[in-house]
Amino acid sequence: MASMAKAAHRAGLQGFAFTDHLEWIPEDEATGYLNFEAFFAELRPLQAQWQGTLEVLAGIEIGNPHLFPEQVRATLSAWPWDYVLGSAHWADNIPGWLPVAFEDGIEVAYDRYFRELLCLARDGEYDVLAHFDLVRRDSWAQLQQTLPIENYAAAVDVILESVIARGKGLEINTSPWSRGLDEPCPGLYVLRRYRALGGEILVFGSDAHQSRRVGQHFEQARLLAKEAGFSRLAHYRGRQIVDWIRL
Ligand SMILES: [Zn+2]
Repeated sequence: MASMAKAAHRAGLQGFAFTDHLEWIPEDEATGYLNFEAFFAELRPLQAQWQGTLEVLAGIEIGNPHLFPEQVRATLSAWPWDYVLGSAHWADNIPGWLPVAFEDGIEVAYDRYFRELLCLARDGEYDVLAHFDLVRRDSWAQLQQTLPIENYAAAVDVILESVIARGKGLEINTSPWSRGLDEPCPGLYVLRRYRALGGEILVFGSDAHQSRRVGQHFEQARLLAKEAGFSRLAHYRGRQIVDWIRL
């Protein structure tokens, strides 16, 4: 965590959130990984050390929170989170990042993913919906193929409307740019629809996992967000938007 903070500072960020994975699906390798006591024990000295230079926030990325409402409620009330990402890593009980997700064809995988994402967007607890069209990154990794997101225009709009109506936000996840894709998750089409439907709350996530990738491609994300009509990013603290950052 200390090297992540150094990397964030080096990348020119004024603040960032750790968003470790939290999963409950038994077959998920991340299930049981996050130790909350250890997380906060390591985070707090970092927050003190960097105070005034780099804001270090306590985030969390919850997988399929709509399936585990009791566990989510307990976790979110037990610890002082600044920021909660909601992610559809599994769709219809199938892990989206493994070959099994594409066994019945790419269209089936995309349909399944967007059905799950709608349930999450509508019923799950989160602040910001993570990597909106993660299925593109996964299908690229498995098949070196993606489908045009415009094919899912109706599903995209319904999901975005739910995010907006609930006062939640959207993440631009920049990791696809490091994995051979020409757009982040989501790309320009979804960002423009989000803006057109009245969406305002936007954040950047590098999905870094390693310190060398913290804040990667944020300049590209900034240009894309502006192209889609956004002029600011949301700054969360204590699960509230406390400020806006000009793009
Ligand atoms: Zn994720």
